[in-house]
Amino acid sequence: MTRPSAGATIAAIATPPGRGGIGVVRVSGADLANFAERLIGRAPIPRRAERAVFRDATGREIDEGLALYFPAPRSYTGDDVLELHGHGGPVVMQMLLRRCLELGARVAEPGEFTRRAFLADKLDLAQAEAVADLIDAATESAARCAVRSLKGDFSDAIHALEAQLVELRMLVEATLDFPEEEIDPLDRANARERLARVAGGVDQALSQARQGSLLRTGLHVVLAGQPNVGKSSLLNRLAGEERAIVTPIPGTTRDTVREAIQIGGVPLNIVDTAGLRETADEVERLGIERTWREIERADLLLLIVDAREGVTTEDEAIVAKLPARLRRVVVHNKIDLARRAPQVMHAADGEHVFLCAITGEGVDLLRESLLALAGFEGREEDLFMARERHLDALRRARECLTAAAEAFGQPELFAEELRLAHHELATITGEFTADDLLGEIFSRFCIGK
Ligand code: GDP
Repeated sequence: MTRPSAGATIAAIATPPGRGGIGVVRVSGADLANFAERLIGRAPIPRRAERAVFRDATGREIDEGLALYFPAPRSYTGDDVLELHGHGGPVVMQMLLRRCLELGARVAEPGEFTRRAFLADKLDLAQAEAVADLIDAATESAARCAVRSLKGDFSDAIHALEAQLVELRMLVEATLDFPEEEIDPLDRANARERLARVAGGVDQALSQARQGSLLRTGLHVVLAGQPNVGKSSLLNRLAGEERAIVTPIPGTTRDTVREAIQIGGVPLNIVDTAGLRETADEVERLGIERTWREIERADLLLLIVDAREGVTTEDEAIVAKLPARLRRVVVHNKIDLARRAPQVMHAADGEHVFLCAITGEGVDLLRESLLALAGFEGREEDLFMARERHLDALRRARECLTAAAEAFGQPELFAEELRLAHHELATITGEFTADDLLGEIFSRFCIGK
C-alpha cells in the first residue's frame, strides 16, 4: 500500500549544530529540480554528486559545495530529495537554510523526513524507530543492534510470527464453515500445536526484545558505600577499556552519571548516594532532589563494603532509605587484604560478590551478576533494539494467545483472540497505528532526520 506524500517542501540543517568540516542542508518535496535550478543555476543530474555554487536571491554566493539530487520515488522520503553539502559553520548553514525557505520550503519538524519515508512505505515503523535509536545509541552494541533493526531483522521476525498467525486463522476460519463435521474443527486444523508454536515464537521475540531494550535504556544502578571502601577504584576497573566508546544515554544528566560505563554492551547509569547529605544550600538541594528522582527509577543497588568489615550499621542506615524493591548486589572489596578468594554467594538479601578492585580479581563475577540480574544473557547478535511500545505489543499479543488457548472449545472466540494477537503484532511495524502515536514517535527525532 503506498500512502500519499505529505506534500509541502521541507528543509532542515541535517548536521549537528556547531562547526564542522562540512554541513548538510536537506530538502524534501515535489519538483526540486526547479528549486535546485534557482539555487545553483541549473537542474542537477539525478544521484550524482555535483560541485555547485549556492546563491542567494540577488545572485550573491552563499557557499560552494556539493549538490545531490534524488528524484522521487528513489529517495529517502519517496519525494524529491536535495542534499546541499556546504561548509559546516553555523552561519553559513543558517544562510543556506534561509535561502531554501525563501524558495518555498518550510523548516522540517523533528523526524519529518523519516516520517515521510514511513508514510511512503520506504521503511516500516520499527525500522523508522531504529533510525532514531541508531542516532541515540550509547554503546557500540546498541548501535549494532539498531542497525540490524533498521535493516529489518526485527520487522522480519514479527512478520514471520504474523504469517504463522494468518495461516492458523485461515485454517480455523475455514473449519468454522463446516460445523457439522464429526471431528472437532480445531483439532483438524492441528490448531493446538500451531498455537503453541506461535506462542513460543512470541515468547522468544519478547525475550530478545526485552534484552535489546536494555541496550537502549541501560541499567540504572544506585551506588552506596562508606568512604574509602573502593567505590572509585571499582568503577574505574569496571570502566576499563570499554570506557572510551560509551556516551551517556540521552536524557540522563551528566552529573549523575559518574562514569560512562558499559558491561557487555549494556550502558550503566550510576547514581551515587554520596551526594545525599543534609544541606541548606539551594543548588545542592536541587541536586539531591534530582538524585532521588534517579534513585526512584533505578533497577539495582550496588553496595560496596570492605571485605574485612562486611556491611556496617552506616551502610544499613543508607540502604533503609532506598526503595525496598531495588535488587541488591553487595560487593565485598579488598579481598586481598581480607585474604579471601573471589566468589559469588546468593543470599536472601541479594548477591554477594567478593573481589579486589585493584587487581581486578573477581570483577568478572560482578559483571556476570549484574547482567544476570538485568536478565541479559549477552548474545548481542540475537537481540532486537526494542522500545517499551514494542514490548507492550508483544506482551498483549502473548495474552491474546493465552486467551485463545483457553477458548479452545469455542472456535469463534478462539478465532477472535487470534485476530487480536495479530493486530497487536501489526502495531509494531506500523500497519495499524494511530496518528497521534506517530506524532509522538517522530517528535522525538532530531531535526533533519
Ligand atoms: P572510595 O572512597 O570508596 O571511592 O575509595 P577509593 O576507590 O578511593 O579507594 C580507597 C583506597 O582503597 C585507595 O587507596 C585504593 O587504592 C584502595 N583500594 C581500593 N580497592 C582496593 C582493593 O581491592 N585492595 C586494596 N588493597 N586496596 C584497595
